[in-house]
Amino acid sequence: MAILVSGRDLAKQKKLKMKEEVSTFLSKYKRLPHLAVILVGEDPGSISYVTGKEKACLEIGILNTTIKKPDNIKEEELLDLIDILNHDDTVDGILVQLPLPKHIHSDKVIQSIKKDKDVDGFHFENVASIYLKQPGIVSCTPKGIIELLDSINYPIEGKQACVIGRSNIVGMPVSKLLLDRNATVTICHSKTKDLARITSQADILVAAIGRPKFVTADMVKDGAVVIDVGVNRDSLTKKLCGDVDFDMVKEKASYITKVPGGVGPMTICCLMENTIECFLKHVKE
Ligand code: NAP
Repeated sequence: MAILVSGRDLAKQKKLKMKEEVSTFLSKYKRLPHLAVILVGEDPGSISYVTGKEKACLEIGILNTTIKKPDNIKEEELLDLIDILNHDDTVDGILVQLPLPKHIHSDKVIQSIKKDKDVDGFHFENVASIYLKQPGIVSCTPKGIIELLDSINYPIEGKQACVIGRSNIVGMPVSKLLLDRNATVTICHSKTKDLARITSQADILVAAIGRPKFVTADMVKDGAVVIDVGVNRDSLTKKLCGDVDFDMVKEKASYITKVPGGVGPMTICCLMENTIECFLKHVKE
């Protein structure tokens, strides 16, 4: 039976440390870190993510401004708002909650955020910095996954890792971070043939697919570490669930994360870390 790797517990510990650090900032730097979040429309999922970010800021002592805009906002207006925030010296981090309405080009919006304030790490230059091993902002979910593995002292070097998913925000960057830690990484996707044969050889299996309970026990090696990134709704229970069939896979894995309570809380925690890093860079410039 696998040991549960709790992102919720790790995030809690890390947030306490951040709170302590942030409590010294007013006397040292005469101000606090400030995260600006832009929320377009009223998608319940997006509202819940933004609420989670507001709550984390409050817990740590980071200032948070959530700017709400209607979903018929013109792209130009959104770009103008980002430009104002880019030039506002009291703002350290800017985040636009995705997804955006279809009439807005998400890539254009993300690229318009100053890369030093792009706390999500989605700006092309920040994404590229991971591949070029240059200084930059590492996106929150991949960073959180590595921190989860480190929290169990898992020796990544020399292990076979398999990542299902190749998006620029999860699959690709987490694969690169695992590679940088000297794992041998296989990246799988929707066109991968014989997926179960590949996944069942992996010591570390990361599922970032977006399909409820897609990873079944037969796809998992005995004793593997299984990290479930997916956030889905179970069609029957309507409850949140991951990409991994947790109840079956936990019998086979050595360590496993759960949805909710696994990668999700670490993503928010790393967002807070990125905001503090941007703040420190900003005040020391
Ligand atoms: P995405 O851009 O839709 O990417 C999904 C990936 O899964 C794609 O690379 C796709 O392959 C692959 N895929 C789809 N069906 C597959 C199949 N049958 N077999 C193998 N691979 C398949 O999604 P994403 O943004 O990376 O997010 C993935 C999941 O993680 C979602 O559930 C999302 O909500 C969740 N997520 C969670 C957090 C968190 O903090 N917990 C953060 C970000 C995302 P192709 O490339 O061939 O299409």
